Amino acid sequence: MNLALWLHRAGLADADRPALGQGDRVLRSYGEVAGRVARLAGALTGRFGLTPGERVAIAAKNSPDYVEVLYAIWHAGLAAVPVNAKLHGAELGYILEHSGTRVCFASAGLDGEIALHAPLGFERMVVIGSAAYEALLTADPIAVEPRAPGDLAWLFYTSGTTGRPKGAMLTHKVLAAASEAYATEVDSVAPGDPILHAAPMSHGSGLYIPAHVMRRGVNVAPESGGFEPEEIFRLMRAWPRTSMFAAPTMVKRLVECPADCDAGGIRTIIWGGAPMYVEDALAALDRFGPRLAQIYGQGESPMTITVLSKADIASRDHPRWRERLASAGRPFAGIEVRVVDAEDRMLPAGEAGEIICRGDTVMAGYWQNPEASAATLKGGWLHTGDVGAFDADGYLTLMDRSKDLIISGGSNIYPREVEEVLLRHPGVREVSVIGRPDREWGEVVVAYVVGQAPAAELDALCLSSIARFKRPKDYVFIEVLPKNNYGKILKTELRETDARQQAPRAGR
Ligand code: AMP
Repeated sequence: MNLALWLHRAGLADADRPALGQGDRVLRSYGEVAGRVARLAGALTGRFGLTPGERVAIAAKNSPDYVEVLYAIWHAGLAAVPVNAKLHGAELGYILEHSGTRVCFASAGLDGEIALHAPLGFERMVVIGSAAYEALLTADPIAVEPRAPGDLAWLFYTSGTTGRPKGAMLTHKVLAAASEAYATEVDSVAPGDPILHAAPMSHGSGLYIPAHVMRRGVNVAPESGGFEPEEIFRLMRAWPRTSMFAAPTMVKRLVECPADCDAGGIRTIIWGGAPMYVEDALAALDRFGPRLAQIYGQGESPMTITVLSKADIASRDHPRWRERLASAGRPFAGIEVRVVDAEDRMLPAGEAGEIICRGDTVMAGYWQNPEASAATLKGGWLHTGDVGAFDADGYLTLMDRSKDLIISGGSNIYPREVEEVLLRHPGVREVSVIGRPDREWGEVVVAYVVGQAPAAELDALCLSSIARFKRPKDYVFIEVLPKNNYGKILKTELRETDARQQAPRAGR
């Protein structure tokens, strides 16, 4: 089934219902959007000569047009390659080349940089909103191209925190299953309910677009095309019952907004994509009340491995509420999730191992990378590379990426455990803990801290709550932590910086 059918049907049966919003106003109805999408799809096949299965990139800021381009691509039977608009031109160029993309839709201002790095065989850049774009909307409309469940819909390039990004192949079936999972387990969506796209549409937030079309909600893009806390608060008031997806760093920035920023009728803030420390989750709960949910997923199983429901987060009276708040919740209904050892043997509750999962929301493999596909999907299970442990109630706590694990004197240390403790100090704004190679211990624990706090106080805090060997041997105070465009802390970069800074000392 082609995902574009949901929009097509809404255009027929619910033509006047609002479909797209920009800033604080309704921009277009389902009838209008379905008509524009069918014409844009006609331009893609008729004027550009693209054939089903070909890839079309979108390198753009969030906008209502983004939704139309995405749907036109699907409507025409093509596959979308949404790329983060903040990537460097060379990175975008790599993705265009690797995906074999001939056509790219870009926001004004990004087109020049992309064209500069475009590979051989690349044919056309369309600037969204330009006269050339509007001209495409005069093409003859076409019917929705039939698609099989296993056909490619979205080529999702991983954020590439190490090495080159890989293209996770998300099929129509994967996105349909992910949309069902969202609407039944994360947030119920009734016709007319808005979702505010403050996080990039090329990533987490965009993956929620189809669920809102399926349920005939309104996809709303901020006027700024991105995340400006004050604008977000304004839009929360303008759109009652709105939901939004936000990375933990975004939630933190919202919490830090002046207290008179009124969250209006916000319905749900879903966080995910990176760890949220308990202290930050508590502050968010104080600020927003019982309107928070958490998801854990990855590009390879988009937004759909586990969910910590609004009810779980709000159940302050539950005896294990705090532990649950530190967890990533329970598996989605449609997916099997296991914690396994190095031989993929299931581990009992309480023991940490790699998280693997299997189900309809798991990618078909990596685009043109059979080795990585075989390794990651070994035995039919997605190997997430994340380490975690189930508790007796079936809640999964994430430790860290396996490569971030610190082994000091033969003992495993999960950075997140140490980070959670350090963040309790009022002077610590952000922290990232890494392992530094050490002749005697193999690795020693080092904490990079944003903020101000005497090392002795941080030591005392650690000694009061975690084993002595987990205490950092060194605290490095810095202005900002290295992060990627999605706000994820780049521990690999931090380790490299740390190694460079240690090198002169070692040579002394
Ligand atoms: P990406 O594929 O770029 O979305 O990155 C996915 C990775 O982000 C996962 O493999 C986890 O390491 C991390 N991640 C996603 N959701 C969460 C969460 N709720 N808590 C902690 N880490 C998360």
